[in-house]
Amino acid sequence: MGNVLIIGAGGVGNVVAHKCAQVPKVFSKIVLASRNIEKCRNIQQSVKEKTGRIIDIAQVDADDVPQTVELIKKVKPDVVINVALPYQDLSIMDACLETNVNYIDTANYEPKDTPKFEYKWQWAYHERFKSKGIMALLGCGFDPGVTNVFCAYAQKKFYDKIKTIDILDCNAGSHGHPFATNFNPEINIREITQNGKYWEKGKWIETKPLEIGFDFNYPEVGAKKSYLLFHEELESLVKHVKGLERIRFWMTFSENYITHLRVLQNIGMTRIDEVEFDGKKIVPLKFLKALLPDPSSLGTNYEGKTVIGCVFDGIKDGKQKKVYIYNVCDHAKCYDEVKSQAISYTAGVPPVIGAMLIIKNIWKENGVFNVEQLDPEPFMEMLNEHGLPWKQVDFPSSILEK
Ligand code: NDP
Repeated sequence: MGNVLIIGAGGVGNVVAHKCAQVPKVFSKIVLASRNIEKCRNIQQSVKEKTGRIIDIAQVDADDVPQTVELIKKVKPDVVINVALPYQDLSIMDACLETNVNYIDTANYEPKDTPKFEYKWQWAYHERFKSKGIMALLGCGFDPGVTNVFCAYAQKKFYDKIKTIDILDCNAGSHGHPFATNFNPEINIREITQNGKYWEKGKWIETKPLEIGFDFNYPEVGAKKSYLLFHEELESLVKHVKGLERIRFWMTFSENYITHLRVLQNIGMTRIDEVEFDGKKIVPLKFLKALLPDPSSLGTNYEGKTVIGCVFDGIKDGKQKKVYIYNVCDHAKCYDEVKSQAISYTAGVPPVIGAMLIIKNIWKENGVFNVEQLDPEPFMEMLNEHGLPWKQVDFPSSILEK
């Protein structure tokens, strides 16, 4: 039915390749391309073992637009799934524009020198995508991604007006390493060491990094300390959920993780500016990345679960209503299925669903869109079918009102 080009052969790229291969009716041809062909080859082998399908592989430097254009012209995909790094978003979008191909990613564009977590550069492509009659679907991972779909679904099904949203992301798993990040260390550490920020009554309120935290009682895993962070979906949801009064994002971190991070920060290892070392210039965070375990290698002994979802408070038929929508994902089960831990799994399944909706012409818009702008119902159904089932419960607790 359709061709897909996946760019990026990391932890998330591995899941995307496996999940596309599981749906031959939709993805008749799959090409996985990345900077390092060896990584593509390993994934190709794993996909063959798990599904019996042989996917094609290619080498590409996605920072180089002409190279990416050439690859797209050769593959002729209906959609490009970008699961390289946020630094490549704009160059891959440029290549899609030049070749008239739909685009999906899971993280907003980031300039290399300053962490920003802003959509403005990608939103600026809207008119160009629109005039070409193609679609760019932004932030279609789990968070951002599924959390945005949960918001659109709650809005459509349960509320006349959503007043507050709290997005809660818990990883209650254990990988057995003293310190490791679950996805690309550079992006992960940049996200956590920046100031926290949330939105209330029309204003952004800034906090120090990990300054605010509380114990939230997560389903299936129990109470876990959760810290307020800024996360990129807050920016698009503030724009697209009308009448919203407050939105916050929370993520769990263990004491052990925070202590390691604090030490690394205090000694300058999380810096993203260049420093002189032995006559060379190095970026400490990039050097740290080279020392830490590769996130795609963490799956082997990973145990425990992730629980990610949204708590809503608002009004339906004149009455207050609170709802919690969430997914629970088991690290070991993900590893059994696709040889990846649950963080890569939860991020890798949603862009595959997005690609299916685009190929099947169910999500058919021209321009640049965040997932909450599209009909959430087919996506919610497909989450249940493709490995990320969700639950919805009434949520009477007032714990989030502090
Ligand atoms: P990894 O670092 O494991 O993988 C990134 C891959 O992209 C690597 O194979 C890397 O190649 C490749 N790559 C980097 N630069 C280029 C380039 N210029 N050209 C071609 N390939 C390139 O990261 P993850 O798989 O953990 O994450 C992938 C993306 O998913 C990130 O953008 C991350 O922010 C996002 N993400 C989103 C989540 C969500 O829920 N929304 C959750 C988790 C991740 P090489 O091996 O040569 O370095």
